[in-house]
Amino acid sequence: MDIQSGLKNRGMESADVEDRRKAVSELTETEFDAIASFPFEPSVAKPNIENMIGVVQIPLGFAGPVQVNGDHAQGPFLIPLATTEGALVASISRGMSVITAAGGANVKVFGDAMTRAPVFRVNGIGHASEVIDWVNSHPGELEMAVASTTSHGSLTQIEFYPNGRSLHMRLSFHTGDAMGMNMCTIAAEAICEVISRNTGAELVSVSGNMCTDKKPAAINIINGRGKTVVAEVMIPKDIVESKLHTSVPAFVETNTRKNLVGSAMAGSLGFNAHAANMVAALYLATGQDPAQVVEASNAMTVAEDVDGDLYVSVRMPSVEVGTVGGGTGLPAQSEALEMMGCRGSGKALKLAELVAVTVLAGEISTMGAQAAGHLGKAHSELGRSS
Ligand code: NAP
Repeated sequence: MDIQSGLKNRGMESADVEDRRKAVSELTETEFDAIASFPFEPSVAKPNIENMIGVVQIPLGFAGPVQVNGDHAQGPFLIPLATTEGALVASISRGMSVITAAGGANVKVFGDAMTRAPVFRVNGIGHASEVIDWVNSHPGELEMAVASTTSHGSLTQIEFYPNGRSLHMRLSFHTGDAMGMNMCTIAAEAICEVISRNTGAELVSVSGNMCTDKKPAAINIINGRGKTVVAEVMIPKDIVESKLHTSVPAFVETNTRKNLVGSAMAGSLGFNAHAANMVAALYLATGQDPAQVVEASNAMTVAEDVDGDLYVSVRMPSVEVGTVGGGTGLPAQSEALEMMGCRGSGKALKLAELVAVTVLAGEISTMGAQAAGHLGKAHSELGRSS
């Protein structure tokens, strides 16, 4: 019996998690002792997964404390990180101890808007122009369409990108404390229906890829997506030397030649050392959408010698995080959010600030190690099982 008919014969559509796991175990001849071990009712994960058979555990550690001087996150924080990369948590913790010794990281959220960008088929550029005029002169109808789908979401901006017989529109929404991708998609569909009905523009797709979700894209760097966050720290020269075992000029030169020049030469959209590492570990720990590590990895790390001390900043134009919705309500992820005081409503901007400071810490540690020529040594000592 092939696997497809094996699943069908076992009535998988209506099976519960245990029956489904048993069937898959038999059909694939695999024991699921570890996958079967988890301490919550499977129904809790119903909005998050189909065909659930169990749970994959990822080791969880913490980095910190790190002193954060943000508008929303203030004080010392321990940061939960889920990873299988040895040396990562130790490295981030080292960066956090440098930040804390230097008096803490300043961090600010400069933008907050989630985007969905539908694409319409129009008759030509004259029709595109008429559609744009109609949309611009009927904001109330579009706002009403959004309000019919969400109480926390609101439309904040529409950008138009006409291209022959295609008309792309990048819709920006305020999404409260949700990351907002489901919310925006549902609201965008309601907007598109109103536009199509009144202008004759045919909706081709609610997502015409100028959003841009889960793909590297310059538009997210330039216009932002989710939260646009910048974190900075001024590290006194003696702390650079005593804690990072390098010098301010060596750190600055390594950052310039690697993160700025090297990234430009590679055509990279990320001008950083390893922002994706910190983001992935924090997103996995807190129930964020892990595919959106792509957008958060377009961070830029800048280092300057300021009167002999080391100034380091990271600009993160597209941090897509929420503290409600998505995977944030799962039991372990919810506890990890609580560890930072970031569970539930009113906490999304705080979480975004902590993401940026965690990236700043990871960048400082790794760039310090590379400036000092220590990177390989740390990985071979901490990241190898034998
Ligand atoms: P969601 O769980 O779909 O929606 C958030 C919900 O939380 C809404 O029902 C909202 O209410 C409610 N809510 C309660 N308190 C809130 C508050 N303080 N702020 C904001 N909302 C609040 O989450 P989402 O963030 O929109 O979407 C995240 C999910 O989308 C993730 O699972 C992700 O993997 C997935 N995703 C979807 C797409 C897509 O195209 N659909 C793309 C990428 C990712 P009201 O809206 O009713 O007011």
